[in-house]
Amino acid sequence: MGNSLRKTAEVAVFLPVMQTYHYHFGKETENLLKPGVRVVVPFRNRSVVGVFTRFTKSDIETKEIKTVLDENPLFPQKLFELAEWISKYYLCGPGEVFKLIAPKDDLKKKVSYKRGEAGPERLQKTNREIYELLSKPLSAQLLAGKAGLTVKELDKKTKPLVKKGILEKKEEFYFAKPRTKELLWEMERSTGKEKKKKLTDEQLAAVKAVSTEIEQKSGKTTLLFGVTGSGKTEVYINLCQKALERGSAIVLVPEIALTYQLVKRFLKVFGKKIALLHSGLTHAERRSEWKRAQSGEAKIVIGARSAIFAPLKNLQLIVVDEEHDASYKQSDYPYYNARDVAVVLGKICGAAILLGSATPSLESFYNATHKKYLLRRISKRVDGAPMPKVDFIQSEDSSTEPKTLPTRAIEKIIQRLGRKEQSLVFINRRGASRYLKCAICKEAIECPNCSITLTYHSYAGKKLACHYCGYEEQQPFNCRSCGVRKGTFSHRGVGTQKLESFLKELFPKAMVDRLDHDTAPDRKKVFEILEKFETGQTDILVGTQMTAKGHDFANLTFSIIVGADDYLAFPDFRSAEKTFSLITQAAGRTGRGKLKGEVIVSGAGDHYAIRHALTHDYESFYKEELDKRRMTGYPPFSRLIGLRLESNSQEILQKEMNRISEKVKMLFSAVEVLGPTEALIYKLRNRYRWKMLLKGKNIVKLHNAAIELANIIDPRISVLIDVDPIRFY
Ligand code: ADP
Ligand code: ZN
Repeated sequence: MGNSLRKTAEVAVFLPVMQTYHYHFGKETENLLKPGVRVVVPFRNRSVVGVFTRFTKSDIETKEIKTVLDENPLFPQKLFELAEWISKYYLCGPGEVFKLIAPKDDLKKKVSYKRGEAGPERLQKTNREIYELLSKPLSAQLLAGKAGLTVKELDKKTKPLVKKGILEKKEEFYFAKPRTKELLWEMERSTGKEKKKKLTDEQLAAVKAVSTEIEQKSGKTTLLFGVTGSGKTEVYINLCQKALERGSAIVLVPEIALTYQLVKRFLKVFGKKIALLHSGLTHAERRSEWKRAQSGEAKIVIGARSAIFAPLKNLQLIVVDEEHDASYKQSDYPYYNARDVAVVLGKICGAAILLGSATPSLESFYNATHKKYLLRRISKRVDGAPMPKVDFIQSEDSSTEPKTLPTRAIEKIIQRLGRKEQSLVFINRRGASRYLKCAICKEAIECPNCSITLTYHSYAGKKLACHYCGYEEQQPFNCRSCGVRKGTFSHRGVGTQKLESFLKELFPKAMVDRLDHDTAPDRKKVFEILEKFETGQTDILVGTQMTAKGHDFANLTFSIIVGADDYLAFPDFRSAEKTFSLITQAAGRTGRGKLKGEVIVSGAGDHYAIRHALTHDYESFYKEELDKRRMTGYPPFSRLIGLRLESNSQEILQKEMNRISEKVKMLFSAVEVLGPTEALIYKLRNRYRWKMLLKGKNIVKLHNAAIELANIIDPRISVLIDVDPIRFY
């Protein structure tokens, strides 16, 4: 009672906590506090960094802000608003979002001591020594050295003295002088100017329409639905030129190494006006690029999902290329989707948003046909080049392993080799593509820490490895199921590596190359392999999903897609959409130059996703798939929140699961609870995992249900909340 309200500062600390905290401050500090500066604050006996958000009034007991670290706000006001929206929408702490956006600076602490006000009465030997040494102030390091102690020991010894006021301890925080390093690698490769192309009518119409949105600062989103090879990149380039007349632009791409051709074309047109932001950079390189964007030296930022947080001023346009791509969704806290965040940022800044794809996500096409987004189509390839001819070959039962490629595919490859054209062998196998099965009990060998099949690697001394926790096992292998030691194991599944050696044996004179996570663990390798293919040094490229994205190879005239229907068995309501998209995208790499392209799709069975992909018919697929979604009530007809519940203890989890789901059903009638069920990967790194889906029409009600659930659950269970989830494991 009677507590008066004091002016306090709200701080979003860089910790995984949902709320913000309040601190008091001195007069000097107050002058330095501007929304968006980083500060150091005490937090449970530690000093942590956070962002000052606003002044508030409070009557609760507060601690004092220790240091203000930035002279000027790190974030433009609009980004600040965006971060707060993300925190509310994706149900994560505001500090976590700020931490994600902020440059990764190293916080340093400098501690020094001097004599205090109170006199040095009755000091023990070492303490007296310390006091004597402090005839003038000294840093902790220096003092410890002179006293023959470690800094830690010194800290312990001096604690009571500081308390009594015999010594004074001063802590100063600052960021280590940030190291910056200019990015050279990409720049070197962008010599030469891009010839200005005359736009086709459809390209021109798209450019005009979005230009109008830029001029009007409408903040509206346009979906550019253009078939593969329709010249969407050219549209982006023209629009960026338009945006630069007034300010800046962001271009998001799914993975920078895989979209190096787009980057190269942009670099040729815009040169040093471009900053690149993506996870492949070192901290120092990233900081340089970030600074170039912040200072206005760079006006276009190209990058993967986190580039949406580039500190550009006067943002006019955001392009999201291949908007359907799953990599826009972060698979960790904060679980944001950069495409959806772009749409929100567009509204905040009045910037025009352009989502581009040949296979738009169902949600985006639905939005575009229901007046939420504007729709632009490019239905023809540039130069009227025909779409490739696509044939389906029914493979044998997919559980028996296809040892080679279908004869017809081999014939086609032989033809191409004769004509000095290129072929692509694309394998759609998720993760466990090469595993071993015990010949006796027929069980696959699983990782002991995770409920996941181990993958077989024939290089580097035959071994089995877990792609999740890194567990490895050398030959001879033992079956954990039936206990047979050194049993006979048969290889299952066809992998990229196996097909590569098969093709090398079959065509000893041809150049066969392979692109997957093993041959290309980093972006430089990816780039090298793709560039070799682009420049014709490779005749046949064998690859995974990585090869299906966005590339433009003029001399590629034949592709085979193996296991096209593999993903359909996966328990994901988007499996048909993913299958359609994958086939269309992979086929879309073929026959883009003057030469006609042919594609063979091989799979086990007939399915509408495959059927429509054979005729490049997105809209028929969309109609059929939309009906399914309507019937089952999945997005776009509902919203989802995914929950993952993890614990070291199986018992606690099992006990809690049913109680929790009943409780949520009782409390929230508008929320449908799916599950809880064991996660697809039930055990990972020795933690047990369950999953739940909340489904409903009203996102606010879903939000509330998720928050309530996290509040009432046994605290020994960690809850991960994924709003608008797209992965279900
Ligand atoms: P998309 O991204 O839609 O699949 P791209 O932007 O990669 O297609 O364009 C396909 C090819 O057509 C590229 O080689 C590009 O240089 C070329 N191209 C694009 N627009 C034109 C145009 N107006 N005139 C001539 N060539 C073009
Ligand atoms: Zn494992």
